[in-house]
Amino acid sequence: MPISILPPQVAARIAAGEVITSPAAAVKELIENALDAGASTIDIVLAEGGQTLIRVTDDGCGIPAAEVPLAVARHATSKLRTPEELDHITTLGFRGEALFALTQVAEVILTTRPPEQTAAVRLRCVPGRPPERETVAAPPGTTVVVRHLFAPLPARRAALPPPAQTTAQVARLVEAYALLHPHVRFRLEVDGTLRLQTPGAGGIRGAAQAVWPDDAPRLLEVLAETAVGAVVGLISPPGDGRPTPARQVIGINGRPVRVPALLAALRAATRGAYPADRHPVVALHLRLDPADVDPNVHPAKTEVGLRRETETVALVGTAVRQALRRTPLPAAPRSAFLLPVDAPHPPEGSPPEPPPGVAPPPTLFPDPAGASRPVTRSSAEPAAPETEPALPPLRLLGEYRRWLILAEGPDALYLLDRHVVHERVLYEEILTALPGTAPRQPLLQPLSLEIPPAWEAALEEATPALADLDLEVEPFGPGLLLVRATPVLPFPLAPETLARTALELLAERGETGDLRHRLAARLACRLAVKAGEPLVGRDLQELLERFRAAAPLPVCPHGRFVVRRLPDAWLERAFGRG
Ligand code: ADP
Ligand code: MG
Repeated sequence: MPISILPPQVAARIAAGEVITSPAAAVKELIENALDAGASTIDIVLAEGGQTLIRVTDDGCGIPAAEVPLAVARHATSKLRTPEELDHITTLGFRGEALFALTQVAEVILTTRPPEQTAAVRLRCVPGRPPERETVAAPPGTTVVVRHLFAPLPARRAALPPPAQTTAQVARLVEAYALLHPHVRFRLEVDGTLRLQTPGAGGIRGAAQAVWPDDAPRLLEVLAETAVGAVVGLISPPGDGRPTPARQVIGINGRPVRVPALLAALRAATRGAYPADRHPVVALHLRLDPADVDPNVHPAKTEVGLRRETETVALVGTAVRQALRRTPLPAAPRSAFLLPVDAPHPPEGSPPEPPPGVAPPPTLFPDPAGASRPVTRSSAEPAAPETEPALPPLRLLGEYRRWLILAEGPDALYLLDRHVVHERVLYEEILTALPGTAPRQPLLQPLSLEIPPAWEAALEEATPALADLDLEVEPFGPGLLLVRATPVLPFPLAPETLARTALELLAERGETGDLRHRLAARLACRLAVKAGEPLVGRDLQELLERFRAAAPLPVCPHGRFVVRRLPDAWLERAFGRG
């Protein structure tokens, strides 16, 4: 076929299919229009997952009668005038594309009335036909009805997932906008049933109570501000979380976004705060200078460009770490005989896995006394107040049955799991030593290790990652490996154990990104004193102090609480003295 320019209707329909990719995408555009119109109530109705009907009603500013035909014209917008404004976008929409695109892929009925107008205009647009216009009575605001989405694109319509799935996508979307716009009342009705209603008051927590009622009461407040901007939000307390990351919303200036760097910052900041198979429930709303945000990098505007990404990443990290540090210790039990029981701790000696994460430190656990390690802490990150330990100074009272530490605090008796205290301190110490601040230690006699053939391929790729940890290895014939140097650790450890553990971790996951943390965690767990064994070579009081300094959070690397606090007042009551 010779090259020819597409007829305009075909080109328009193709472009429209890129903007409106699903019922959720249609709802998203309509919600954004309602928010841009200053609505305080947004009502969303779906039938069959939005595939036969979507209706979005708002009480916003409406469209003046004379401008209604323009609203559905291509590249027609009231939100942008000059090219310069594109660098400083303060509205959710700006391309003037959505309503036009909708009219290309569905029947659209737009009813709109500015408050100062006495009657509303209704415009009915059927693809391929000229729009019909009439004057009707309607309350101030705008209603957009979208019927039979993708009827003009049969292949797209046939490929839609079942209505239950598109309903779920829309619901998640509405939840995200509701959390980011807590002053707006959102209502979502699905096939005649009310699915969600937010109060339009009470800030982000007010919205969360409606959106995530089962989690909301426990969520911790996130609040921080730096030169780059501010963040407000909520996050699960350490040790909590959900089996899937479905309840995670990050927004920038009112827009839900997926920015990989921010997700990585979240993961890095929560490393070790939750059990390995759990994800925090989180809603974070960043307020940044619009000039620092480019929402014009993706058709759906969910991926945005950040001009000051490093600082923004640091802001998220700081905010989240500070929030987690404010965790209250678990409340005192009501009865002396009913101590709260946690999820079982993984058997001792089984390796703790810090949750997978791409980003290097900052971690939850700052260097003890800010010591050493000139590594990758972001320079934009404020250093000081974060290191405040969550635990008060503790005086060692003794050990109970060689697994529990009893300690006296200012106003309470503290019980701590000895294995985990030791494990966490070792984890910190190993992490600090990797890569060694001391020069690596070449072995006088290179050590040859037998390795399973399966490791050989992985090893080749991993050699640089191992070298970063000061672990120098090289292949040495089939099934053999030569270890030439190992890092200097703060305690004696057979080079063989060290090398084997690192190789084991590589073979398990075949990725090197998180190796430093995983190696520290696994060695710590292996080396930490087990229940029933005597603690050799370490002073328990010193261990307690290090734990306090190193672990601002009273959770173990599995994210489980490892400290119990029995307040004096509670003890007194238990003995009839209070
Ligand atoms: P954009 O939002 O990018 O401007 P749209 O195609 O979504 O493009 O909307 C076109 C124009 O129609 C908007 O700029 C706005 O002026 C008007 N409009 C659309 N929806 C509404 C609404 N719910 N309330 C008031 N005005 C609206
Ligand atoms: Mg729009």
